[in-house]
Amino acid sequence: MQFTVALDGPAAAGKGTIAKALADKTGFAYLDTGLLYRAVGARHLDGDEPIAAAQSLNAADLEREDLRTAQVAKKASEVAVIPEVREALLSFQRSFARMEGGAILDGRDIGTVICPQAEVKIYVTASVEARARRRFDELVARGDDVTFEQVAQDVADRDARDASRDTAPMKPAEDAIVLDTSDLSIADAIDAAYRIVQQKSA
Ligand code: C5P
Repeated sequence: MQFTVALDGPAAAGKGTIAKALADKTGFAYLDTGLLYRAVGARHLDGDEPIAAAQSLNAADLEREDLRTAQVAKKASEVAVIPEVREALLSFQRSFARMEGGAILDGRDIGTVICPQAEVKIYVTASVEARARRRFDELVARGDDVTFEQVAQDVADRDARDASRDTAPMKPAEDAIVLDTSDLSIADAIDAAYRIVQQKSA
């Protein structure tokens, strides 16, 4: 059985949390595609050329401890603008999406470019304030030295870069269901997404 759940949307909207919970409930495999771009961004910070880094990405790159830092997030969205970087990461994501047993992928272009035939497409979003607050709490909990204003600015800059690039810009697929999590608890956001998956798989 092939069944793809595409979860797209801006940074810190809750995609990852929802995706992991859906993977637990459905037994589908889960891929956080942002990690691929973060790994390329981290290699670029080390001095590697981004296209070569994307073409030679390996498992160890995806296990680096620094992938969740604000610095790597910014670099990730910079390298994600480069068409050859996206091209190098495409076939891995496509095969993952259509693997037997079902797959959930979260990212920016899953429903539009990676897997337009996905059975379920959800565009998870939230206000910039709500997303900046969540990301700020996350970074502070990890011990990062950041201010709320700085995180809000980073989130807004990343949104602008992700939405305005020429190749695979962040946007809802025409047939995506938009889920705004600004005023939802985590449990309610997960329930709403799970209901959508159940309706589409019935
Ligand atoms: O989702 P996450 O915040 O980890 O993604 C980091 C960056 O990687 C995003 O800001 C975006 O520029 C890029 N990305 C992308 N396409 C995806 C996933 C992430 O361009 N499918």
